[in-house]
Amino acid sequence: MNFLSKKARGILPYTAGEQLRDRTYVKLNTNENPYPPSPRVMEALSRIEGEALRRYPRPDAGMLRAAIAEREGVAPENVFCGNGSDEVLALSFPAFFDGDGAGVCFADITYSFYEVFAAFFGIPTTIVPLNAQFALDLPAMRAADCRGYYIANPNAPTGIGVGRDVMEAFIASVPEKLVVADEAYMDFFGESLVPLTKKYGNLLVVKTFSKSYALAGMRCGYAVGAPALIEGLFRMKDCFNSYPVDAVAEAVCVAALSDAEYHANTVALVVSERERVRGELLKMGFIVPESRANFLFAGRAGKSGKEIYTKLKEAGVLVRFWDKPVLRDFCRITVGTRAENDVLIDQLHKILS
Ligand code: PMP
Repeated sequence: MNFLSKKARGILPYTAGEQLRDRTYVKLNTNENPYPPSPRVMEALSRIEGEALRRYPRPDAGMLRAAIAEREGVAPENVFCGNGSDEVLALSFPAFFDGDGAGVCFADITYSFYEVFAAFFGIPTTIVPLNAQFALDLPAMRAADCRGYYIANPNAPTGIGVGRDVMEAFIASVPEKLVVADEAYMDFFGESLVPLTKKYGNLLVVKTFSKSYALAGMRCGYAVGAPALIEGLFRMKDCFNSYPVDAVAEAVCVAALSDAEYHANTVALVVSERERVRGELLKMGFIVPESRANFLFAGRAGKSGKEIYTKLKEAGVLVRFWDKPVLRDFCRITVGTRAENDVLIDQLHKILS
C-alpha cells in the first residue's frame, strides 16, 4: 500500500542547503550570519521560565509584533509573524492567489521555494528569465499576465539588489497586482520598501531574523503591509497552526530587536568582508556580480560550479551550487568571518593553481 496522496507523490519539494555534521567545515553554504546573535539574546534565553513554556504562546505573537512595529516605524496591525519567513511566504500564496486565472510571476533565477509553494497550492506561474547581466527583467515582469509578483530583493542566489526608487516605480505601475518583496537579505543593502507599505496597498514586505540578526536556528520571520493583507495571512495561519511563533522565539527576537547597535555593527562587518572577498575573487578571474546581500555569486571560465564546490568541500569549505542551466557555472558563497574568508581564498588559490 502506498498511503501517500497524489499531491505528496507528485510534488518536487524544496532542497535546503547541506547541514553536514560529519566534520568541522568552514560553512559558507546557507547564508547564515558568521557572527553570534546579540548578547541580549542569550540573556533573554537565560531568563525564560518554565511557566512561559507550560502555557501556549500568544497566538498573534503580540509582544513581538509590537516590537517589530516600533523598529520598522509601522503599527502592530501592519505586522504578521511566522515560523521563519519561509512560513510567511508559504501562507501568502493561498492568502492572495487562486488556482484559476492568472497566477504569480517571478524570475527564473530566484529563491527556488516560490516555485514549490506555487506548485503545492496549485497556483499558475509565469516565469520571467533574468536579463544578460543576471538582473531582474522588470519591464518583462510588468508585461506578464499575472495577479502578483514575488521579488527577492536582493535576489538570491545572484545577490543583485534593486534600489528603492526603481522598485517604487514598478509597484506604482502595477496597482492592480500584489508585489511581495522578499527582503531576507535587505539589511545588507539598506533599501527596504517597508516605508512604502504606507503608500501602496499592493505591497507586502517579508523579512527574517535568520540572516542579519543571526537567528536562523530560532525560525522567525515577518511581513509588513496594509491591515487587509495582514488579515489574509492571519486567516491562513489559523488554518494551519495557531501558534507558529513559540514563546522562546518571541522573547529572543524582541531582545535581538532591542540591540540596534549590535545589529548595525555585525551588518557592517559582513558588508566590509563581502567587498574584500569579492575583490579577491575578481583578482582570481571570477565573474562576480556586485552583491547587496551576505553572499557572493561567483563563476570562473573553465571551472564548473560543481568542480569548485567539490574541491572546496574536500578541503573542508562548504559552498552551494545548483546543477541547473546558468547556475551550474557558478557557486554561491556566503560571507564568513575574516578568518573563514581567508581559508576560502587560500583554498581557491590552491584549486586554481
Ligand atoms: N527568502 C530568501 C530569498 C531566502 O534565501 C531565505 C533563506 N533560505 C528565506 C526567504 C527564508 O528564510 P527563513 O525561513 O530562515 O526566514
